[in-house]
Amino acid sequence: MKTVVEYLSDLVRIPSHSALSNRPVTDYAARVLRAAGWSARELPYRDAAGTEKVNLVAAPPGQDASERDVDLVLMCHTDTVPYAADWARALDPLIAGGMLHGCGACDVKGFLACVLAAVSAGNSSRPAEGLRVVLTAEEEIGCIGAAHLAADHVLRPRRMVIGEPTSLAPARAGKGYSLAEIVVSGKEAHSAHPGQGVSAIFNAARLIAKIEELAAQLERDRNGFFDPAFTTLNIGTIEGGTAKNIVAGSCRFQLEWRPIPGQPTDSVLLSVTELITHLTATHSGFHAEIRPVRQQPGFETPADAPLARTMEALSGKRAVSIPFGTEASVFAPLAEEAIVFGPGDMRTAHSSRECVPVKELDEAVSIIGSLVRST
Ligand SMILES: [Zn+2]
Repeated sequence: MKTVVEYLSDLVRIPSHSALSNRPVTDYAARVLRAAGWSARELPYRDAAGTEKVNLVAAPPGQDASERDVDLVLMCHTDTVPYAADWARALDPLIAGGMLHGCGACDVKGFLACVLAAVSAGNSSRPAEGLRVVLTAEEEIGCIGAAHLAADHVLRPRRMVIGEPTSLAPARAGKGYSLAEIVVSGKEAHSAHPGQGVSAIFNAARLIAKIEELAAQLERDRNGFFDPAFTTLNIGTIEGGTAKNIVAGSCRFQLEWRPIPGQPTDSVLLSVTELITHLTATHSGFHAEIRPVRQQPGFETPADAPLARTMEALSGKRAVSIPFGTEASVFAPLAEEAIVFGPGDMRTAHSSRECVPVKELDEAVSIIGSLVRST
């Protein structure tokens, strides 16, 4: 039996950015789980590029991994984001200053290592009935593996703990994530004769100014458990035009919004569609199309939900909200209670600063161990 640091070091050494097959990670975890007497059920699929991806559902000794209605799922993704070429030790874990550094150290191989250590720890008390460890593929590119599990009705959990770095605070609410692409079309012309064309960039600017007003309106609908307390939106990229002396024929931009729980994921989409309809009616030559790319709802588990209380008691920390998207947006609608929890701080993730405090790894092993053995 290995220590949590050894499990995590092994996992960091496995390259696992989302484009690769995640099978080496699920195979590693399945080996550890099976050595502890667990059964593991593979649910493979092919991604858009034809690469094999594996979701894994594992059950404790004596329990059936194919049962759909279960009590408690510990869910964890197996992919990481790609790392920068100049991060020499991305896959070569380094322990320094009480931190383990490496790609995936906190997002989210740290949590996976803690689950493996907790499950394989020699403990006389049996895991609770209806417990599952579920590993997913392709979370970082849109929770695709989790969406497969939900669409195939593989699991209907009563309670879920989803691994993501929260510095060991139980997160009981998270905003959703939605993304759309907007293309504004105009008509190219020599810039000395603008009247012969329609500037897609000027028209995009008209629409963007309206979207900024919409952002201000969204601040009225508030959920005080979040900071900021309202749905935020952002135009993160814009591109258009071909040359300084050509009236721009096309301009496209990406609009992202993070809805507070309870707000429909498409409310901004519908509002922007209305703005486009209005501008089309009032400005001759205005033409724009909006295409939804992603729509993930937020989630909120009540403050007095038993799982929230249990995780607060085990961690010694008050429940928090998280500003980032997680697989809770896929599974919270199916589960009665969902909590996001794990060692490390998301502010180090997705960068060459990624690390996890070794002390938090040890604490998480004991918290997870208590959770899976409590009834
Ligand atoms: Zn993650």
